[in-house]
Amino acid sequence: MANILISGASVAGLTLAFWLREHGFAVTVVERAPSPRDGGYKIDIRGAALDVAARMGLLDEVRRHSTDMRVARFVDARGRQIGTMSAQLFGGREGDDVEIMRGDLTRLLHTAAGGGVEYVFDDSITALRETPECVEVAFAKGPARAFDLVVGADGLHSTVRALAFGEESRFVHDLGHHISIFTVPNHLGLDRTEMMYPAPGKSTGMYSTGRGDDAKAIFLFPSPVEYDRRDAVQQKKLLADLFSGQGWEVPRLLDAMWDAPDFYLDSISQVRMDRWSSGRVALVGDAAYAASPASGQGTSLALVGAYVLAGCLAEAAGDHAAGFAAYEREMRHFAEENQKLAANNLKGMVLKSAAQIRFQMLMLRLMPHLPGKDRMIERVTGPIRRAATAITIRDYRTPAS
Ligand SMILES: Cc1cc2nc3c(=O)[nH]c(=O)nc-3n(C[C@H](O)[C@H](O)[C@H](O)COP(=O)(O)OP(=O)(O)OC[C@H]3O[C@@H](n4cnc5c(N)ncnc54)[C@H](O)[C@@H]3O)c2cc1C
Repeated sequence: MANILISGASVAGLTLAFWLREHGFAVTVVERAPSPRDGGYKIDIRGAALDVAARMGLLDEVRRHSTDMRVARFVDARGRQIGTMSAQLFGGREGDDVEIMRGDLTRLLHTAAGGGVEYVFDDSITALRETPECVEVAFAKGPARAFDLVVGADGLHSTVRALAFGEESRFVHDLGHHISIFTVPNHLGLDRTEMMYPAPGKSTGMYSTGRGDDAKAIFLFPSPVEYDRRDAVQQKKLLADLFSGQGWEVPRLLDAMWDAPDFYLDSISQVRMDRWSSGRVALVGDAAYAASPASGQGTSLALVGAYVLAGCLAEAAGDHAAGFAAYEREMRHFAEENQKLAANNLKGMVLKSAAQIRFQMLMLRLMPHLPGKDRMIERVTGPIRRAATAITIRDYRTPAS
């Protein structure tokens, strides 16, 4: 049975490891971080991805970790409330959709994939050389090894994609904004409450699920900005400069940033590629079809993509080219439909002018009293629902069955 190397132990990589192991493959996962990476914001699981979580036996646990957020409150520079909405609508969720902390999901997936998978933390692939029989892989720290197949599940800035398909600028498209997220003390005592302070061209937020005594801060601001992706101190200075002079709780959040254990800053970008495989190498999750945090569907795409890729490889019974082709056929429409959500969502996340902020807040205050309220809600949730269910999860035959 094929011996498969996965680069990246996050949502896509761990889900793929789980399903490949279920189908009887030998799986090794290499992750650059010393352990599965914690941190990150709340993420949503919807539609077909709920089916995948259920098939992994994880849905009850995922629901147990649901953020259970109640309300989103919008404030002005002086902290006065200027609008409010339900947390469900704010997150574009309905029905069975679940919101969970990214770190909680990664932990659950790691436990589920667990036994039978070889993990190599604190290392990274540095070179790939394909031969007719295998891929020879060089690592930054460990000795070189050979694998039948290599899958890049190493996110937006995938090393595997750069090595097998070419440089990142060909595939990564900045949607015009950056996002920064990190943990801060819950100094406002927020409980399942989301606060947003929209300013022209930038937004700042803070929320807490009420569990533990911390909260998350979120900053959204326009690209382009110049910084070294590996230099967190430089990125923190950049954020402090960009938001200096802003009102509400911004100065306190920026003070807390310097001690944040999980500082994250990246562009809101999508990955668009004509093919997700080349020879014995394939990509899954953000590495192949990042939809961006603005889509709200990156995690669901990673869960579904990993399930489909593992299933297609199992059914192909050793013919990896056929397996990769089937994966692309089954996933492409779903990936594209979800990518389409981002541009529109982004317009609501960062409002351009003071007039636009005033109008949006007025609409929020009026909405409960308007006759067309349900239609307005459907305009938010309908496209997300349709994209999230734009694939039917099927059963895959394992070679043994
Ligand atoms: C720390 C962090 C915080 C995030 N926070 C948010 C958020 O708040 N909101 C949001 O919408 N999205 C966030 N994302 C992205 C979101 O998790 C993904 O869109 C989604 O879950 C798809 O997952 P993925 O597994 O494809 O990619 P990712 O979750 O990005 O995972 C990629 C994994 O590959 C690892 N990796 C990268 N390069 C290498 C390498 N060379 N060798 C080995 N391993 C490598 C990374 O450490 C990471 O574990 C975050 C990602 C990370 C890594």
